[in-house]
Amino acid sequence: MSELALEKKPPTDVEPILQVRDLKKYFPKRKGIFSRVVAHVKAVDGVSFDLAKGETLGLVGESGCGKSTTGRCILRLLKPTAGEVKFRGKNVLEMSRSELLGIRRSFQIIFQDPFASLNPRMTVGNIIGEGLLIHRLGNRKERDERVKELLNVVGLDSRFSKRYPHEFSGGQRQRIGIARALSVNPEVIVADEPVSALDVSIQAQVCNLMQDLQERLGLTYLFIAHDLSVVRHISDRVAVMYLGKLVEVAESRALYREPSHPYTEALLSAVPIPDPRAKKNRIILQGDVPSPQNPPSGCYFHPRCYYATEECKFVEPELVELGGSHQVACHNYEEVGELRSKILQGSS
Ligand code: SF4
Repeated sequence: MSELALEKKPPTDVEPILQVRDLKKYFPKRKGIFSRVVAHVKAVDGVSFDLAKGETLGLVGESGCGKSTTGRCILRLLKPTAGEVKFRGKNVLEMSRSELLGIRRSFQIIFQDPFASLNPRMTVGNIIGEGLLIHRLGNRKERDERVKELLNVVGLDSRFSKRYPHEFSGGQRQRIGIARALSVNPEVIVADEPVSALDVSIQAQVCNLMQDLQERLGLTYLFIAHDLSVVRHISDRVAVMYLGKLVEVAESRALYREPSHPYTEALLSAVPIPDPRAKKNRIILQGDVPSPQNPPSGCYFHPRCYYATEECKFVEPELVELGGSHQVACHNYEEVGELRSKILQGSS
């Protein structure tokens, strides 16, 4: 088989394909004429998770919670402050430049903005074929063939390769972005809010395309979104992030059926129901997301939490296992369900 052929990588091992351990990314805040570091913005603060081969993990949270920074640290587009990112058991963060170039083929990214992420001066063929050129894959004829094949795979006409990005709609541009990510036959794709900038009807098409490609090529996705309704259908598991930390991780169905963290519950209550007659108790979170430069003491969520107790103000909750791969960081997770029904009864 040609090195350029689109192929499904066989499931190899029981080990996760990607292991992220205690990942941290702190941005220094400088002040004065000597640019002294006066504080750190803790964008990502001790994130750990595994990704199994062929799995989709949805990473969800409000804007500024650190989910995109997590994705970029995993791809080493940003240098993490601390932590480990292991791909097939090898720590990506300790690799040399040449090792990293080799492994970059296995990791690709789909960007949020299909308008800004494609170079307007390059033809679609050159955009999609750029990765092949960088990794010195195939000769010119093979690369051209591969670009045409990729355009077909993402549902576009292969004759579009000579056109420029401005000649396409948002959905078509995102398909071009997906084709570019697929060009080097990756195993893990970080999809950074890939459908946020698209109309709802187009969002569904792009999600369906990504699912089809996953089945066909055995891809593994870290699917970043700020909206739980978007990740619901595409994710096997969902990780909820708040102020640089994971607060709940669970299988998709379990999380939507019975959220154990009050923040997840609030995010879920904001997901629209397609039935206009259905009544819904929406939980409106008070206040803004606190600054990651100066996070609250104890549980970072306590100033906005319905269920906060005295302990929450001073003691930071650990992420604990609830069984069945469900993890939650909340002192009162056992009472949340009980309290929730009381609050909802009181408000009705
Ligand atoms: Fe709310 Fe306390 Fe749980 Fe934090 S630990 S989410 S403040 S109940």
